[in-house]
Amino acid sequence: TMNHVKIEFSSLPENVSLARVLIASLVAQIDTTLNDLEEVKVAVSEAVSNSIIHGYQNKPDGMVKLEVFIKDGILDITIEDSGIGIENVEEAMTPMFSTIPERMGLGFAFMKSFMDSVSVNSSLDQGTKVSLRK
Ligand code: ATP
Ligand code: MG
Repeated sequence: TMNHVKIEFSSLPENVSLARVLIASLVAQIDTTLNDLEEVKVAVSEAVSNSIIHGYQNKPDGMVKLEVFIKDGILDITIEDSGIGIENVEEAMTPMFSTIPERMGLGFAFMKSFMDSVSVNSSLDQGTKVSLRK
């Protein structure tokens, strides 16, 4: 079976939980463990939080796109923003690297450890697209 869902929402911090609820409900359609479900929820929340906090610098007038494909038990998820973009993706994905001193810099590390693959496409002043697969 195949399922495809696409939503777009404002860059408001309260929409992180919207994304979590949506992904949880979709993952529940496939045969996964509770642990896998939790991991996917964390990975998606980290990516959505990054779009809001970094991409749109906490400004509420941006839009975040979340797209999910489920096919043959494989989950393909993309989280996309049209924000400031990432100057150096490799550096950004290094554990404990953050451009905000108060943050831990672990979002990408969680995504990488919780998903089978993580890829990031980003252009300065154009935005960032994170693709997650499990
Ligand atoms: P934490 O996730 O632990 O709160 P963090 O968000 O800084 O801290 P990561 O999620 O690993 O850590 O992201 C690393 C860095 O990559 C960020 O500090 C930011 O500079 C950059 N970044 C990540 N996502 C985006 C994005 N969507 N747009 C612009 N910059 C981003
Ligand atoms: Mg983060």
